[in-house]
Amino acid sequence: MIPVTKSYLPPINEYTAQVNRAFENEWITNRGQLIRELEEKLKVYLEIDNILITNNGTIPLQIALKLLGNQGEIITTPFSYVATTAAIVWENCTPIFVDINPNTFTIDTSLIEAAITPKTTCILATHVFGNVCDIEEIDRIAKKHNLKVIYDAAHCFGVKYNGKSIFEYGDISTCSFHATKLFHTGEGGAIFCKDEALRHKIFYSHNFGHNGPLDFYGLGINGKNSELHAAMGLAIFPYIEMIISKRKEVIHYYLESLDFTKVKAMELNPSITWNYSYFPIVFENEASLLKTLETLNKSEIFPRRYFYPSLNTIKYTQGASMPISENLASRIMCLPLYVGLKQNEIAEIVKLINA
Ligand SMILES: *Cc1c(COP(=O)(O)O)cnc(C)c1O
Repeated sequence: MIPVTKSYLPPINEYTAQVNRAFENEWITNRGQLIRELEEKLKVYLEIDNILITNNGTIPLQIALKLLGNQGEIITTPFSYVATTAAIVWENCTPIFVDINPNTFTIDTSLIEAAITPKTTCILATHVFGNVCDIEEIDRIAKKHNLKVIYDAAHCFGVKYNGKSIFEYGDISTCSFHATKLFHTGEGGAIFCKDEALRHKIFYSHNFGHNGPLDFYGLGINGKNSELHAAMGLAIFPYIEMIISKRKEVIHYYLESLDFTKVKAMELNPSITWNYSYFPIVFENEASLLKTLETLNKSEIFPRRYFYPSLNTIKYTQGASMPISENLASRIMCLPLYVGLKQNEIAEIVKLINA
């Protein structure tokens, strides 16, 4: 069976060595030594000066929207994982969808201004598949209309834009360290923010609002991650470069051998250093996608329809129609991509798709 992805697992003795440290410390959560050490390692690796590790990649979106959304209208993309939209609704804000660019799959900035109303508080855009949004234009619009910018950068571990970590952009940026993501801690995530005052609010918000054991700065939730998850992150950390380079090899093979007269790849932002996080291909129509999927499934190959359906069509959003996103969602899927995917397996996938 060839799944769309497989979680990278470090050698088990290297994982248990990290877990042993938590046992020796007799400290398994609440910002112990391992979480703080992982944060320091990631700061150096990602070349950033702040990071707060959280228990997943959804809570950071909720905290960002709690602090900046003000229960208002949030301009957002319909082409993302459901967590982006769900976080908006969960925080009693209203998602206002803006259609996407059909080639880069990110929010179409030329449509944003028409969607702004007096109730708009934020733009929440996804750097989908690690491809970067039109950051300059989003910044310009946000400044002009006094809006906050939140980036769902769940797919962006290691991505750079103009030589700088992608997590440096926006008022708040978030990442996911879920088991299916490029770098993972089983469950986990992170939140990034350059403004010190806002960072302070984020910090206490992720720890029940605590100001010491007996006092509270304000409302909070539990966004902390455990030492057991940090142990996984620390054990995987030495392998990050290897993980990225193996994925790069797989993607290069796909790029060289797929027949691109019939399918299309994502158009990457030219100023990006990409992380090879996903390999989406777009078919001419949904029928051709479904037929290919059926053929692959018969050979025990299971790509995923990322992202389907377009988020403006799910029951609780009732968004306006988003023709480009809906059309793309009907024709796109992500091909298997993970460390350990064998050469003959990739060749088989390519052969079936080309046929
Ligand atoms: C994975 C993902 C999330 C949620 O992250 P979790 O760690 O699973 O909570 C949010 N947004 C996008 C775009 C994702 O792919």
